[in-house]
Amino acid sequence: MGEATPVVPLATADNVIAIDGPAGSGKSSVAKRVASRLGYGYLDTGAAYRALAWHVLERGADTSDASAVLDATGDFDFAISTNPDDTWVRVGSVDVAAAIREPRVSDAVSGVARVPAIRQAVTNLFRAIITDTPEGIVVEGRDITTIVAPDAAVRLLLTAAPEVRAARRSAELAGVEAAVVADALHRRDASDSGVVDFLTAAPGVEVVDSTDLDLEQTVDAVLDIVDRTRGLTP
Ligand code: C5P
Repeated sequence: MGEATPVVPLATADNVIAIDGPAGSGKSSVAKRVASRLGYGYLDTGAAYRALAWHVLERGADTSDASAVLDATGDFDFAISTNPDDTWVRVGSVDVAAAIREPRVSDAVSGVARVPAIRQAVTNLFRAIITDTPEGIVVEGRDITTIVAPDAAVRLLLTAAPEVRAARRSAELAGVEAAVVADALHRRDASDSGVVDFLTAAPGVEVVDSTDLDLEQTVDAVLDIVDRTRGLTP
């Protein structure tokens, strides 16, 4: 990863389902299940940004310092599973799946994600993973429908009312006060939205609002759109 990394175009996005959305919209759980039901791979792009933030913090560096973040990429040895039924994330030999969900990483990740050279390098990494998964892949994040795979066969924005998103995050983070979780989520949304607009659907992107849907209903709504879109393709 470095300042001069050119952006590599994506060879084909025929079997790609792109799902964007804010924190707590349910996109990880939904994307994973949709992938599993379709026999597709699954890529959690937020995990890559989180793993890099974790790595920067482990080095004792400041995630809001762009040059410190770029320096940290020199020895960032990242690997991620694309099996929706066996997910893992590693940095070197360390399994960081749990550590990257800790509040200290959630609070720091936006700093890492706002560095343009990082976004460029990470986008290339995602495109390489997509290319290596020709059977099809569900990719979720903030800029998948617009930047990483704008030609994806299916492009969705998963939304939910802010209070519902905060309640879902709070349920995941047992032991942390609900108001603290809501506050952290809103701060991260505000910081992230300065980098990518993940709250507005780009042209051609379908919105699925999960405010009044449970997980299975949301998965079914997404699979309906996938079926409908495939019915349109020759
Ligand atoms: O999806 P998740 O909440 O785990 O993402 C963690 C962070 O990674 C986001 O808050 C955002 O800063 C960054 N991100 C991004 N672009 C993506 C996915 C995540 O900037 N495609």
